[in-house]
Amino acid sequence: MKDQLQALEKEALQKVEDASSLKELQDVRVAYLGKKGPITEVLKGMGKLSKEERPVIGELANKVRGQVAEAIDSKKAGIEAAELEKQLAEETIDVTLPGRPIPTGGPHLLTSIVEEIEDLFIGMGFEVREGPEVETDYYNFEALNLPKDHPARDMQDTFYITDEILMRTHTSPVQARTMNMIKGERSVKMICPGKVYRRDTDDATHSHQFTQIEGLYVDKNVRMSDLKGVLDRFAKQMFGEDREIRLRPSFFPFTEPSVEMDISCKVCNGEGCSVCKRTGWIEILGAGMVHPRVLKMAGYDPEEYSGFAFGMGPDRIAMLKYGVDDIRHFYTNDIRFLKQYHQA
Ligand SMILES: [Zn+2]
Repeated sequence: MKDQLQALEKEALQKVEDASSLKELQDVRVAYLGKKGPITEVLKGMGKLSKEERPVIGELANKVRGQVAEAIDSKKAGIEAAELEKQLAEETIDVTLPGRPIPTGGPHLLTSIVEEIEDLFIGMGFEVREGPEVETDYYNFEALNLPKDHPARDMQDTFYITDEILMRTHTSPVQARTMNMIKGERSVKMICPGKVYRRDTDDATHSHQFTQIEGLYVDKNVRMSDLKGVLDRFAKQMFGEDREIRLRPSFFPFTEPSVEMDISCKVCNGEGCSVCKRTGWIEILGAGMVHPRVLKMAGYDPEEYSGFAFGMGPDRIAMLKYGVDDIRHFYTNDIRFLKQYHQA
């Protein structure tokens, strides 16, 4: 029994020595000193011993226990000190290292373009107005001279929420809402930028979501020459003072007459190249004189008031201005693309 105890002591001390973490040490403590441990087991067999042997074995057993416990405690202190040391070493801050730059980001290219256009028109006395992207059929179509069965609606198929509520297909409803609010009591000179939606199949030049900026000027004696002057200023400021504009007849249900505006091609200077499809001109926007029926619906007397309206796509303008070849670049959030324009 004496040998057994000594062997246990040796074994336990070795295990304490080998333990490398507090968890392992605790396992050793439970295994050797616990109620079900081998030392306790040995002591249980003491009843079989002679009177003389009992105190000797008892003392030895207590001594073994004491030594194992002491070894565990001292090892525990050692491990704790080592762990603290390790933690301190890991958390040391080298104050001489250069700081890590925090990326600050910048406005999206489309945001920059929209803001540039806004500034330009604010400079000409226009106010900036916004409206809801989820619109009623009335404001999106009917108030703009597009009744339910109008064929021009086909060109603007969109996402419907209900039969009467839809994702707006253009920013024109903001004009209708503004005129409705003013009720023909004063003139209006505004632009409305914002996101619009169409049920288009996405490709290099089409996106189901895109941006639009529309402008409206209604007052007494607003003439087509005023429209031409405003558009000419816009084109020169946006694309360069040497750009020429031309107006071509077109059709929009809410303007009469309606025009498309082209600017002379910057690449070939009007000679004709692949960018302008050999025409020397690039289509930029649609415009026209507000249809008398639209004025009437908005509460203006068309005999007294007249006005012009125009609509353009900042996506297309950004593509032309910066040579972007695919509209989808604006919406796929590829940071490598967007970063190029942070200084723009
Ligand atoms: Zn060209």
